[in-house]
Amino acid sequence: MRELILVIEDEERILTFLRRGLIYEGYRVETASDGAAGLASARDNPPDLVILDWMLPGIDGLEVCRRLRAASSVPILMLTAKDAVSDRVQGLDAGADDYLVKPFALDEVLARLRALLRRAKPETPEVLTFADLRLDTGTHQAFRGERAIELTAKEYELLELFLQHPRQVLTREVIYDRVWGYDFGGESNIIEVYVRYLRQKTEAEGEERLLHTVRGVGYVLRETA
Ligand code: CA
Repeated sequence: MRELILVIEDEERILTFLRRGLIYEGYRVETASDGAAGLASARDNPPDLVILDWMLPGIDGLEVCRRLRAASSVPILMLTAKDAVSDRVQGLDAGADDYLVKPFALDEVLARLRALLRRAKPETPEVLTFADLRLDTGTHQAFRGERAIELTAKEYELLELFLQHPRQVLTREVIYDRVWGYDFGGESNIIEVYVRYLRQKTEAEGEERLLHTVRGVGYVLRETA
């Protein structure tokens, strides 16, 4: 379920920044610090999306892009310090799907990534609903009534989990395991933080609360009693 992102970037600082941010959002991440290593990684462990730096030692990003594209249709997000129109055209000609000009914010990366992954996903969409809450698993769009709700990747996964188990109390352990994929040992407040985000978004216009706390246990999606 969790998508694998391959990041090919020689700048350690940016690589670390992206790896942390992506893992925090729940993606699986592979990294490579030059083109040859990136191509080998893509071949051995095919990613769902590639974030590719333009300026790489050895085989440059443009050439890596061409070779990736020759082998698969994996979405490619290029990172570049260049902002000239001709550079963008060159990259698109080489098969890149989208661009991000350095310096960029993590939110921008995540937004582009979601859009690219969404486009790449051919699976049969399913619409999960509870009360007036709707989640389209094809487009990853959420609605409260007619109101569209923007979700980050993690928020989406969390809401999807609740919608798959309406009126069922989900323990913190189950939520950690299903959404974050590892055991937090109950130390972290990450679930509380994300539940708060989801509440803010699903109750933004004063709608009735659907995501309830079950003290000492976890959370449940249900109508207000
Ligand atoms: Ca670079």
